[in-house]
Amino acid sequence: MTAMPPETPQDRWTARLVELDNTHVWHPFTPMRQWLEGGDEPGRLIVAGEGFELIDQAGRRYIDGFSSLWCNLHGHRVPQIDQAICSQLEKIAHSTLLGHACPPSIELAERLARIAPAGLTKVFYSDSGASAVEVATKSAFQYFRNIGQAGRQRFIALREGYHGDTLGAMSLGGIDTFHTLFRPLLFETTFVDSPNAYHHPAGEQAGRAVLDQIAAILERAGDSYCAVITEPMIQAAGGMLTHRSGFLRGLRELTERQGLLLIADEVATGFCRTGRLFACNHEDVSPDILCLGKGLTGGYLPVAATLTSRKVFDAFRGAVTEGKTFYHGHTYTGNALGCAAGVASIDLIFSSGLLDGLAEKARLMGDRLAELRDHRHVADIRQCGLMVGIELADDRKRRRGFDPAMQVGAAVCRAARKRGILTRPLGDVVVLMPAPAMDMETLERLLRGIIETIQEHFAAGTV
Ligand SMILES: *Cc1c(COP(=O)(O)O)cnc(C)c1O
Repeated sequence: MTAMPPETPQDRWTARLVELDNTHVWHPFTPMRQWLEGGDEPGRLIVAGEGFELIDQAGRRYIDGFSSLWCNLHGHRVPQIDQAICSQLEKIAHSTLLGHACPPSIELAERLARIAPAGLTKVFYSDSGASAVEVATKSAFQYFRNIGQAGRQRFIALREGYHGDTLGAMSLGGIDTFHTLFRPLLFETTFVDSPNAYHHPAGEQAGRAVLDQIAAILERAGDSYCAVITEPMIQAAGGMLTHRSGFLRGLRELTERQGLLLIADEVATGFCRTGRLFACNHEDVSPDILCLGKGLTGGYLPVAATLTSRKVFDAFRGAVTEGKTFYHGHTYTGNALGCAAGVASIDLIFSSGLLDGLAEKARLMGDRLAELRDHRHVADIRQCGLMVGIELADDRKRRRGFDPAMQVGAAVCRAARKRGILTRPLGDVVVLMPAPAMDMETLERLLRGIIETIQEHFAAGTV
């Protein structure tokens, strides 16, 4: 590939950054050979953001169609959050929660307890979704030890589930591409099918069928299980796999009946993504443990949290010598700047009336994308609130996907950049996850752009 000779200082700066990136930065979830061959393609280097747009090295603007990987809520450069971080910076950036407290983490915990599903009143902080899941896993395991049921050690999780990339979180993950290689390093988990109607042989009855699977497992060896973990309502990284209504509620009833803990991983679904504040709200479910991350700070800073019920927390109280203490923590647990951003973001959700507009935005997405329903390469369109997956397939009738080597999903998303849209696929599922605060006009442009991209891509015969 021959690049134009650098001209302006700006061009030289960009070329230098791309060169240094290639020399030193190893990108996550990125086939690096391809990346190194990419040069300074449009949209590669994001140098700024404004509202719902991202701006690249050449000043080109793109609609942020995936909320900067599922975390942005209110847009970029939001004055209220910018200001909250600056104000906190004038006091202190970070002070440890190990043996000390700090105002922002207290204020954020109070808000989280107030808005979370009922009964989740205790907040344990960490700094990524994966860590929040580690905390959930370890605390569920230790909970049963602390209450004298040490035999309850195993977890049930869903195939196609995703809970993060650390070893514990991966042990609960059911995505072959990410997890199979590492199985020898992971603890053993019992997997059940994903209750998605398109991918499960039982179709519309998938939810019931999977609950029956879990019930059968518990029938045989119920007292060796400590918890079931699920992404409520929709499995995001697995391909935006929506669940039948009633599954989550059924799972809550089943775990309660059997004395297991229910862990809801709302790292992706939390904070308005699904059309409600939390996905659990759709079925009026309170899990025993709730994992939050991604949108917790409005997409600004890496703060995650694991909320538990009083029942779980109380099992960890005891004399030091009883061994009930939860020996887990991270250096940046409860980081002050991050928590200040979290407080500002949550306050903004309510002061801006964000929740009120979600149904209308979700409806617009569904209505517009219906145009693709009959497209010969669109096999399924799945949606839960503002989380959408458009599954592309070679043969929609036989549900046969494209050859993965063709990377059709990636090609479509690359084509979308020409129309000023950035998003990232999950295999051949094109993901749309606009910020919940995105205005209707920008949302319309995003939808139009994606529809036209898909139509044009296949019309040109360039699958
Ligand atoms: C993204 C995600 C995680 C992991 O969060 P990180 O911050 O990337 O570690 C965990 N669970 C779910 C459901 C996620 O979507």
